[in-house]
Amino acid sequence: MKQTIYDELKSVFGYDTFKPGQEDIVSELLHHNDTLAIMPTGAGKSLCYQLPAMMMDGVTIVISPLISLMKDQVDTLNNMGIPTTYINSSLTSRQMDKRLSELSMMKYKMVYIAPERLESEMFVNRLMQLDIPLIAVDEAHCISQWGHDFRPSYTKIYDVIQQLPQTPVVAAFTATATQKVEQDIMKLLHLKSPKIIKTGYERSNLSFSVMKGAVKKDFVEQYLRERQREVGIIYASTRKEVDQLTTFLQQKGFKAGKYHAGMTEKERAHSQEQFLFDHYQVIVATNAFGMGIDKSNVRFVIHLNIPKDIESYYQEAGRAGRDGQPGECILLYAPQDIMMQKFLIEQSEKEENRVHIEHSNLQKMIDYAHTSECLQRYIVHYFGDHAYDHCGMCSNCKDDRDVVDITVEAMKIISCVKRMGERFGATMTAKVLKGSQDSKIKQFHFQHLTTYGIMSTHKEKEILQMIQLLIADGYLTLTESRYPTLQLNTKSLQVLKGEDKVTQRINRVVKKETTYDEYLFDALRLLRKEFAEKENLPPYTIFHDATLVEMCSQKPSTKVEFLSIKGAGIAKYNKYGESFMQCISQYMADKQ
Ligand code: ADP
Ligand code: MG
Repeated sequence: MKQTIYDELKSVFGYDTFKPGQEDIVSELLHHNDTLAIMPTGAGKSLCYQLPAMMMDGVTIVISPLISLMKDQVDTLNNMGIPTTYINSSLTSRQMDKRLSELSMMKYKMVYIAPERLESEMFVNRLMQLDIPLIAVDEAHCISQWGHDFRPSYTKIYDVIQQLPQTPVVAAFTATATQKVEQDIMKLLHLKSPKIIKTGYERSNLSFSVMKGAVKKDFVEQYLRERQREVGIIYASTRKEVDQLTTFLQQKGFKAGKYHAGMTEKERAHSQEQFLFDHYQVIVATNAFGMGIDKSNVRFVIHLNIPKDIESYYQEAGRAGRDGQPGECILLYAPQDIMMQKFLIEQSEKEENRVHIEHSNLQKMIDYAHTSECLQRYIVHYFGDHAYDHCGMCSNCKDDRDVVDITVEAMKIISCVKRMGERFGATMTAKVLKGSQDSKIKQFHFQHLTTYGIMSTHKEKEILQMIQLLIADGYLTLTESRYPTLQLNTKSLQVLKGEDKVTQRINRVVKKETTYDEYLFDALRLLRKEFAEKENLPPYTIFHDATLVEMCSQKPSTKVEFLSIKGAGIAKYNKYGESFMQCISQYMADKQ
């Protein structure tokens, strides 16, 4: 009997149902129709080409820019029983030869390649001898100069397709494509009357929040303490910040790693691997990290600084919750950071028009930080989907924080700024208000100001936080210079005259409620880690967190029950089923 796509979905991938869009794409491809799929991160794009690849004769080519992840992706597939290999610059020419001849012997159903491979004539000649039913172009926005990660080699893809003796079906996948990028993908890949499948930009399992005026290091520390079982990413805009925060967190006893372009390739590969293997609770990184990061159990993504545009933000934040379990995306907003982004735009040698576009993209990002509408709606609207209403779980939809009146404090701060001659930054101002003994204070004779020490009952940190809030809400202006100074504006004067009231929402880190047995989860996680270490595979390639959570609630004890768990296919059952079921029954017995 012929396998149906549903049989395949169940037996190979272990899923009962398709996610939105998947079934359409799979069947279009099996009917030999070119397809462009625009689906958010975590929507399950990979399965859309992996499943047809399993069912088609010949070997499917997957083009992906993520060389560093290929090995893991390929290991995962082999572990699911899909014979797959990869060819990229990390192989020796001997290894490459071996894989190429294995390919001509039809040993594999899929081969992952980096786009740069297509520039090698030798390689293209080898491809011409293969039976290639399908070419999947992942991260297809890389083909467009308008996209945010242009890779010139992507433009070679069509040249190669043209040379193949039999025209394959072409499938293009991306998570973010504006109209222009979408047009470019279709044009440059010469898709033939393609089916375009979009599933909308919403990520219903992600909750977004913007925190203004938090003392960043303290916030991060407290946040990580509340989430000892969870892993996540913290993005910072400079290498220096990455270094500092990583050291700080390590000193506080957290398992923290880092990643930025200033590290050697070897160091970076090591960090990435430690993170994939759950050896780090958190990785602190610049935006050099993570394009297409395939780790499914990232539970939070914190941005320490405002990113340059909504596209980058959504892509980075979207690395949370790929497994469909809840994910948190937090932007720590401080007005000073905007200066940094503006500086980067001005510094780059781009044509004027481009500079203008980048400034306006940044402004949209700044507006995101200030909007009071649903944050997810703001993003989804930005990408042109206007039907979406609201998420009900972002920091704007769910703002139940306590509001306190800080008008009196605001008056004190503003008059202090005035008395200091509007020539100093936030830190120095906070010191004066606190009544600090710092030698700089004496140097400028600030101990004689009437505002010296008038906020001495507050912690210096609290004062700093209030100053930051005043800037964010426009009650004080920060100059745009290398050493920004605080200045008064019309809103500050209104406060001083008692015409405006200032309020502060109190940020707090909320402890997360869990609905499953955490101890059983820990036991299963430990078992997964044992297997992972034995097989040298990242733990989530054995089972996703979501799968373990389901085991915790379903507590399978037979083969049939085990196979009914999402993410548990036949190959996984054969390898791990007994051990996991035994772990569960052992746990249940011990509990009694
Ligand atoms: P994308 O490439 O779109 O960002 P992935 O292909 O990496 O997403 O898939 C995201 C997650 O969704 C993976 O953990 C994958 O195992 C899971 N997934 C894919 N298809 C399904 C499905 N039909 N049911 C449940 N989970 C799925
Ligand atoms: Mg993907």
